[in-house]
Amino acid sequence: MRRGGWGGTILVIVLVLVLLLSLSSVFSEHEADLLPGQERWSPQMVPEPGKETNTKEEPAASDAEKEEPEEERADFEIHFLDVGQGDAALVLCDGHAMMIDGGKAADSQLTYAYLAQREIDHLDYVVCTHPHDDHAGGLAGALNYATADVALCPVTEYDTVAFRNFTKYLDRQGVALTVPAAGDVFRLGSAEVTVLGPTGEYEIVNDGCIVLKIEYGETSFLFTADAELGEEQALLAAGGDLRSTVLKVGHHGGETSTSEEFLRAVAPEYAVISVGKNNGYGHPSEGVLGRLKDAGVELYRTDLQGTVICTSDGKAVTFRTERKTDKDSFEHPGVMILPEPVDPVDPGEKTDGTDGEVAPEPDQPNGTEEEKTVQERTYTYILNTNTYVFHEPYCPSVSQMSEKNKQVYEGTRDEIIAMGFRPCERCYP
Ligand SMILES: [Zn+2]
Ligand SMILES: [Zn+2]
Repeated sequence: MRRGGWGGTILVIVLVLVLLLSLSSVFSEHEADLLPGQERWSPQMVPEPGKETNTKEEPAASDAEKEEPEEERADFEIHFLDVGQGDAALVLCDGHAMMIDGGKAADSQLTYAYLAQREIDHLDYVVCTHPHDDHAGGLAGALNYATADVALCPVTEYDTVAFRNFTKYLDRQGVALTVPAAGDVFRLGSAEVTVLGPTGEYEIVNDGCIVLKIEYGETSFLFTADAELGEEQALLAAGGDLRSTVLKVGHHGGETSTSEEFLRAVAPEYAVISVGKNNGYGHPSEGVLGRLKDAGVELYRTDLQGTVICTSDGKAVTFRTERKTDKDSFEHPGVMILPEPVDPVDPGEKTDGTDGEVAPEPDQPNGTEEEKTVQERTYTYILNTNTYVFHEPYCPSVSQMSEKNKQVYEGTRDEIIAMGFRPCERCYP
């Protein structure tokens, strides 16, 4: 009996101890008790810097669901950012990222915010297709948020504020510009990117654009930037495989691009025009819209639909857009004279008031501040009093202009437009 009694007492003591121990672990304030559990997960939760973040491990799953319910990221996506009159595209594949152009300097705030909202702080490639302001300008904003491994550009120097600003941000990261050659191939995750152009010498800046073809599974995407007839002809002559599922239409739909012959070679099922509303150039042109319609493509336009996102599963592509439009995308926008002031473009899908508010870092690129006052600034322009087109002094058209039509004008862009002049489609004054 005694033993039995002791046995019972011991059992009770053991039970009490077990209970106390379990309670103490529940209420413990010692973080150290919890850390081992956390440590087990952390290697999987913290991605290698600059590497893919979409490893499909369970621990991150519940968090990931909470954090980004509004945007499921497919393995391959292209975001054609609405940067008004300009080009900017973000290509995402298997956790890797490439930015092709960044819009104007004033779009730096948008490119910065767009990457920041998605926490894309590393770009495998930054491509400046050519140094015109409506392509190079906003890359400064992207580089102010994200680091880059490789920066591609057809030239290493160009005498504009926007271009110098772009290279300044690259310099800070210790990244030099690489001039690619036609035929170069590189990978972006499981996608393959081929440089098709420029193929050789060219006469105007737009015909020296870096032209890229991206292939993902059976789908393909052709980025011709501002290539005009000259480069299109050169690409056709080079005999590369231009055929693509999606065509980023050349030069914002300008009439001197997207020739019938070129379009036949590309044979796209879908086309995207990156163009600003009331852009003053008459882009996209009636001719290009007609040619695209005749080719039977499905057309998307940033001036009508805002940012356009194209997703591929390797077999087929699907599109979603920031805005819906009831307009026929093949309808010409009409003749616009005055470019609208650059509006701060809503980059995202949320309407919680945080949009566009994402402040660029303290040392922000010139974009926002400088561009706000750019309209009032006085510059030197060259007017052609015969054609009523005005140019930047460095524009190649200026050297071909006859002296009697040439007039040097110091003043603001608005003044010149008010005088009835149109901006040149090559130099984008
Ligand atoms: Zn352009
Ligand atoms: Zn251009």
